Amino acid sequence: MNDVNCIFCKIANGEIPSQTLYEDDTFRVILDLGPATKGHALILPKSHYRNLYDLPEETAGEAMKLAKKMAIMMSERLGSEGFNLVQNNGDLAGQTVFHFHMHLIPRYRADGQTIGWKPQEVTQEELEAVKEQICQE
Ligand code: 5GP
Ligand code: ZN
Repeated sequence: MNDVNCIFCKIANGEIPSQTLYEDDTFRVILDLGPATKGHALILPKSHYRNLYDLPEETAGEAMKLAKKMAIMMSERLGSEGFNLVQNNGDLAGQTVFHFHMHLIPRYRADGQTIGWKPQEVTQEELEAVKEQICQE
């Protein structure tokens, strides 16, 4: 289940070398080549799934368990004091490599990075309408 044109398939399966922090039968965790902070890493499944929509539920669960283990281990070793988990789906959402991955971003005091959005004003009625749209039968 690999895509011959996908760079993350090649990295995850060891065809292209990477700085690997962890590997098992399902995942490889590598250092990002354009890190936001020291230790910025990516969890890659070895099989090719474009995004969260395509990822099997079981693999999604395993990815989150691995993220927790990596966050604890990396924070201890690197001395980071905060941690962002980031996961982009689709080009509109900032995805640039279309092989599912989770960003592990250790955070440090005054690291100069911001990961965020501009909060919008919203009324209770608007919140209610959105909830109805999402939760409709
Ligand atoms: P996205 O924007 O798709 O969520 O994140 C893609 C990430 O992959 C970026 O942070 C980028 O720096 C990283 N990246 C892209 N190509 C490579 C590569 O060949 N090797 C590694 N280690 N990271 C890569
Ligand atoms: Zn792939």
